[in-house]
Amino acid sequence: MSRFLSARFAGLEAYTPGEQPQDMQYVKLNTNESPYPPSPEVFARINGDEIGKLQLYPDPEGKILRQKLADLYGVMAENIFLSNGSDDILNFAFMAFCDETHGAMFPEISYGFYSVYADLYGVQAKQVPLQADFTISAADYCKNEAMVVIANPNAPTGLELPQNDIEKIIQSNPNHVVIIDEAYIDFGGTSCVDLIHKYDNLLVVQTFSKSRSMAGARLGFAIASKGIIEDLNKIKYSTNPYNINRITLAAGEAAVDSNDYYMENCKKIAATRERTTKELREIGFMVLDSVANFIFAKSDAISGADLYAGLKKKGVLVRYFGKEKIKDFVRITIGTDEQMDVLLEKTKELLAEGGKA
Ligand SMILES: *Cc1c(COP(=O)(O)O)cnc(C)c1O
Repeated sequence: MSRFLSARFAGLEAYTPGEQPQDMQYVKLNTNESPYPPSPEVFARINGDEIGKLQLYPDPEGKILRQKLADLYGVMAENIFLSNGSDDILNFAFMAFCDETHGAMFPEISYGFYSVYADLYGVQAKQVPLQADFTISAADYCKNEAMVVIANPNAPTGLELPQNDIEKIIQSNPNHVVIIDEAYIDFGGTSCVDLIHKYDNLLVVQTFSKSRSMAGARLGFAIASKGIIEDLNKIKYSTNPYNINRITLAAGEAAVDSNDYYMENCKKIAATRERTTKELREIGFMVLDSVANFIFAKSDAISGADLYAGLKKKGVLVRYFGKEKIKDFVRITIGTDEQMDVLLEKTKELLAEGGKA
């Protein structure tokens, strides 16, 4: 830290992203990226013509992409907000809808960035414990005086909160924004996008990073009532109106045009997830019922820390959080069937070696 940093950030604990080794030496199952490449349409679109336009600023409104997303999700373009990854949108939402008197509430075990944003803006954060079975109890989030943030399916559990529970939460907090972070919705969950027609306090956040194989391009979008989208735009235009670059906008348009390709990939990933879950259970693992592109698993035969370290030594990267309530678990991204074969093989080796890293 330099002596110049504002005192208000002195105690801030920044988010720690999963490891991103750049040399491809690992079977990388630690940050929930898609194992499948972008669609052929994206490859075709990012060509010399597109690069030739790089001296010009991109469209700050992203008009073409917003209209394509509006058509895909059955809403109006005025209901769509675009940003530089969905992290950017969550950041804007905390900035826009919280302050000293309007706090935020979210599950204690969830996406780690929520508490970082709360700290960044000096917002009071109520972190609600999960039930013993790692599910979210909707009643905990009803009639509270705070912005609610729920990842559905939740991360890192992969468990889904039923639609009627989500609706109850939205209904019971009419004076606060309810954010449903649907980063993993395409892998088997039910989206609550349609509820934006009924509730003006619902903000649905999605991303091209997971199901649309574009984590490296940084593109997220939100769907909400016109008023909420206007508020987010106010913040965006007060920080960085050109926060989505030209190449990413073009890739995003081509990705929506080839939506079927990505939804097929999601089906493949869901099938691989079911098979991997079954095989891990057969060798004694407890695996939560995930509807996402990752699974959360633990074994009595090996600690979470040893499984993470042992797999890493054998060339397989998974995510270990080490937080007290989930310290026995690792989160494993669903890759290709071949990648999961390697994971299963290396896991069996570790168990045979006595479960110590
Ligand atoms: C990955 C993830 C995000 C962020 O994705 P971006 O790459 O910033 O679009 C947001 N929320 C959850 C729950 C995630 O897992």
